[in-house]
Amino acid sequence: MSTPLGPLSTPLPPLPDDIFTSAQWSILLALMDAVVPRIVRASAASPSRAIDELVISEEEYGAIARATGNEEGETLDAYLAERPSESEEFKGLLRRQLVSYAREDQRRPLMIILSLLSTRPGSILLTGYATPLDQLDIKSRTAILQSWCTQYMGALCTLRNTLTAVGKMIHIKSSRLFPTITGYSAIPLQYSPGPSYEYTFLQFPESQSPAVLDFDVVIVGSGLGGGVSAKNLAEAGFSVLVVDKAYHYPSTQLPMTEAQGMIHLFENGGVIPSEDSSVNVLTGSNFGGGGTVNWSAALQPQGFVRKEWAEDRHLPLFASATFQDALDRVCDRMGVTDKHIRHNHGNRVLLEGARRMGHTAKAVPQNTGGKEHYCGHCIMGCASCEKQGPNVCWLPDAACAGAQFIEGLSVEKVLMNGKKAVGVKGLWTSRAGVKREIIVKSKRVIVSAGSIYSPHLLMNSGIKNNQIGRHLYLHPVNFISAFFKEEVRAWEGGILTTVCSSFENLDGHGHGVKLEATCMLPSLSVSMLNWNSGIDWKTNAAKYAHMNSYISLTRDRDPGRVLHGPKIEYTPSAFDRRHILRGLIEMSRMLLVAGAREIHINVPGIRPFIVDETGGGAMCEIVDPRFVAWIAHVEAVGNSPPNATFACAHQMGSNRMSAKKADGVVDQEGRVWGTKGLYVADASVFPSASGVNPMVTNLAISDVTSRGIAAGLKKETGTKL
Ligand SMILES: Cc1cc2nc3c(=O)[nH]c(=O)nc-3n(C[C@H](O)[C@H](O)[C@H](O)COP(=O)(O)OP(=O)(O)OC[C@H]3O[C@@H](n4cnc5c(N)ncnc54)[C@H](O)[C@@H]3O)c2cc1C
Repeated sequence: MSTPLGPLSTPLPPLPDDIFTSAQWSILLALMDAVVPRIVRASAASPSRAIDELVISEEEYGAIARATGNEEGETLDAYLAERPSESEEFKGLLRRQLVSYAREDQRRPLMIILSLLSTRPGSILLTGYATPLDQLDIKSRTAILQSWCTQYMGALCTLRNTLTAVGKMIHIKSSRLFPTITGYSAIPLQYSPGPSYEYTFLQFPESQSPAVLDFDVVIVGSGLGGGVSAKNLAEAGFSVLVVDKAYHYPSTQLPMTEAQGMIHLFENGGVIPSEDSSVNVLTGSNFGGGGTVNWSAALQPQGFVRKEWAEDRHLPLFASATFQDALDRVCDRMGVTDKHIRHNHGNRVLLEGARRMGHTAKAVPQNTGGKEHYCGHCIMGCASCEKQGPNVCWLPDAACAGAQFIEGLSVEKVLMNGKKAVGVKGLWTSRAGVKREIIVKSKRVIVSAGSIYSPHLLMNSGIKNNQIGRHLYLHPVNFISAFFKEEVRAWEGGILTTVCSSFENLDGHGHGVKLEATCMLPSLSVSMLNWNSGIDWKTNAAKYAHMNSYISLTRDRDPGRVLHGPKIEYTPSAFDRRHILRGLIEMSRMLLVAGAREIHINVPGIRPFIVDETGGGAMCEIVDPRFVAWIAHVEAVGNSPPNATFACAHQMGSNRMSAKKADGVVDQEGRVWGTKGLYVADASVFPSASGVNPMVTNLAISDVTSRGIAAGLKKETGTKL
């Protein structure tokens, strides 16, 4: 059989009903058109569209063509002319974002501001112009967006950051010409879908009465914690049901496009802002959870973190052979190794920059079954099935041992009989839209819904413990990008195959930053570039084939909290932000010595460092006064919210494991304090931030927890061990 040319499309659900007025849409799209403006050269300008387009001179046009490495001509003209209000796909994605994925209380302030901006008084108040915003030309709209970012207007600064972030991201997902102009392909090199496991999901006829099921163990969430638990318990001979509110997608549909993948594979369309919008949380939601979309980095927790957890937190598990055995077991099963890695350009730059600066950097082992896996698209699902995510590895093992599965079942609560968990209840929605209430009775309930939804589910189930949801760690990051003279095609090759760890202990207590390469799919890299003006961003975006990006990821000392809803209360503290900024500065030096021609720290207000400003072929060293002055500028601007916004690399700790009931949510066996039969097995049980990417730590803790549950059940039921 011949290999298909690319993945099958996974259509989006129907558009949600519109709830914005036409006046609000008009203002919103006028703002979006300023974020990503239609740019035309003077010879093509049309007087009838004067307020809609940004006219540039032939010299400016030539400069853009040279900077982006494009020929002057029709394709470049058409790329520059694209704008949101003329793209049905852009408008559809924007509507989904605002209607389906923003809460009413998040949307309301935006709707009020849009309404105000369509009136003269409101416009004067918010923009200084008497003319409503949608009647202003692009230059004036641009000036308004730029002016909203002053420290005196925190709310408008947040609004500007949100609008520019959303505009950039949706434009990149929906632009017809971005791939043509940059050479980007959404299909991995040597595309060949691997053999997906063929799951059978339980189905139920439509009915007013609930379907009642009986299992030894029900596991809520099919991610990493849930997957390894399902395997262990099914292989131990128990009847196991794994349920997930999201759905399974076979390899023939992977990787998805960014527009489809963000909606089908991630929680809330990939956007969960903290309450003050300082951090966006990205978390997987599909059959396989975060393990389907993660970047394969498979690091074991470091000695100083294990020591902190074992000694300071009095949890001897983390200093035990049991834990090390579990780490090794889960790594063996996933074929974790660094032997077969072929680093792409971005990761080679990190290694070389670190070497030239005398820092410590190394290859990061990958969970790709010992295969090279030169693929940068796996965040949208792994087509080759080389990445050993739960849907490829743990859940098929569980299925072979008899586990059963339900997709599309959103568990509402754990059913309690006094202090004893006796099952779960939730609403099932089939792929065809059939709905049915489902009750699962079970001897044990394992909550593996991830660090945001597990605490929410425990709260919803009436578990009384004021520690639930506290101690949420997010490994917050800022991004830094660099442009190189040569084409680097950073979307090709393994995403995160190197790490620089020289700055991971900046306070002497194990808090600091790791510097890592990041996912280079356009909507997650190009859209992070600062928006100073539409023309500046659109020009930089077109240089994508020359760009690498990195993250400065901090092991956060200061946690936030998950509230019922769930809502996320988290603002990176000044302490943690300082570490991130230090990482950005060190990474800038590494990039300079590794040959970057432009360095862009993705924090508004920090101007880029251009090595050869005059175009005369100048070189630059880290001691060059111009570079030293730029570092001083970076330090002076800093990374405080609301100007700076952060991304969350990983979520942990919101149901932390503790030696005493008063200090946490679960005991060392993963059992929820004060309950019987109720366990948590996911990254929410980490005693604090892991510092390393958490997959392997999570799998190992869940492995120990589920083996303990199996042993307890065997004892209880008299099954022979
Ligand atoms: C883009 C990305 C890249 C990453 N890269 C790496 C990496 O390279 N290395 C690494 O170590 N870590 C990485 N991580 C982190 C790692 O994947 C996560 O830490 C891990 O997936 C968390 O596992 P979990 O068991 O806590 O839950 P998850 O994997 O988050 O799974 C939770 C599941 O529960 C389901 N669920 C939630 N609520 C309910 C409910 N009420 N009813 C039913 N189902 C529910 C969700 O749909 C989801 O599928 C990455 C994460 C992301 C998002």
